[in-house]
Amino acid sequence: MFQINDNYQKLPGSYLFSTIAKKVAAFQEANPDKQIIRLGIGDVTQPIAPAIIEAMHKAVDEMAHAETFRGYAPDLGYDFLRNAIVENDYKARGCEITADEIFVSDGAKSDSGNIQEIFSEKNRIAVCDPVYPVYVDSNVMAGRTGTYDPTSETWSNVIYMPTTKENGFVPEFPKETPDMIYLCFPNNPTGTTITKAQLQAWVDYANKVGAVIIYDAAYEAYISEDDVAHSIYECEGAKTCAIELKSFSKNAGFTGVRLGYTVVPKELKCGDVSLNAMWARRHGTKFNGAPYIVQRAGEAVYSEAGKAQLKEQVAYYMKNAATIKNGLVEAGFEVFGGVNAPYIWLKTPDQMTSWEFFDYLLEKANVVGTPGSGFGPSGEGYFRLTAFGSYENTCAALERIKAL
Ligand SMILES: *Cc1c(COP(=O)(O)O)cnc(C)c1O
Repeated sequence: MFQINDNYQKLPGSYLFSTIAKKVAAFQEANPDKQIIRLGIGDVTQPIAPAIIEAMHKAVDEMAHAETFRGYAPDLGYDFLRNAIVENDYKARGCEITADEIFVSDGAKSDSGNIQEIFSEKNRIAVCDPVYPVYVDSNVMAGRTGTYDPTSETWSNVIYMPTTKENGFVPEFPKETPDMIYLCFPNNPTGTTITKAQLQAWVDYANKVGAVIIYDAAYEAYISEDDVAHSIYECEGAKTCAIELKSFSKNAGFTGVRLGYTVVPKELKCGDVSLNAMWARRHGTKFNGAPYIVQRAGEAVYSEAGKAQLKEQVAYYMKNAATIKNGLVEAGFEVFGGVNAPYIWLKTPDQMTSWEFFDYLLEKANVVGTPGSGFGPSGEGYFRLTAFGSYENTCAALERIKAL
């Protein structure tokens, strides 16, 4: 009789987005005349920029002719894309990363879930709280997290690093020493970030205790302040302790197109064993490369026209972020994030729980957001609004909130 991976049975149900959908549907049914505005989704809404669409069309046409047709892509990515990444995302920022340290993939969610498999199941992970759920759940599936306590909503073998307004949303070094540290800056869900000096302290800490940092830089394109690192490799010593995850989803609208990459520096070793070689082996065995058409689209992200168009797209969302932030401040809310990320994290008023505020906002303003408690226990008492809607809807939502 076969057996299953029992670790999957330990996963608590993910009720956050299904509960939101149910509550919104029930409200709409009871109030068919109300126009609901959704500022809860973490998905982009602007279409793919023209320079990228043009590159995709061209690549599609190449597929139609025997002379230019492409079959399996190289496992680790086409050189044209890996070189464009090196030049634009690393060399231009003074980081010495080479093309053979870049692994092109179908997105940062898969990479953040998959990367754990090259590490021992005995490793202890540390995560910020609140957190992007994939880091914890993928480690649950691997059997690394111990047992779940439904009361505290925590795992016995996971080290939680609360990020709240009390510590300025900067995680503190944990009392127990972790082996793997997940960091995401600028952060989803809090929309906050840390300075380059604060990130350097984490790199120094990881090198000192012998931990690896899994650094999720999916929101790098939204950084507007000078003292925030665009890559962890801007920090000295990061190549011996850090893996970086990047995505084309939030900077270029590729959430449906699917493209990302992971950087595993050759200097990153466990004893004599190169993690770069391990990840290359893993990719070569389990992944046949991101599609040619999509990698050509990714290359166009780094063209002059692509860069200019994407700068405008990011600015569009960040104008929404400023509208939300300023509107909430005017309405008397305590507000965080929204400066280097498309997320605004607000403190719920009058000691309301995250879910009480969700209901209040839905019923009184017909605006949908995301309860902070859905991202971890330290998210209780907070609420997330996203800047990924249209400008018109964002303005309308804020007018309603200000009128409450
Ligand atoms: C959206 C997001 C990603 C991107 O994932 P893709 O699979 O590349 O679409 C990664 N990490 C975080 C924290 C995100 O919010």
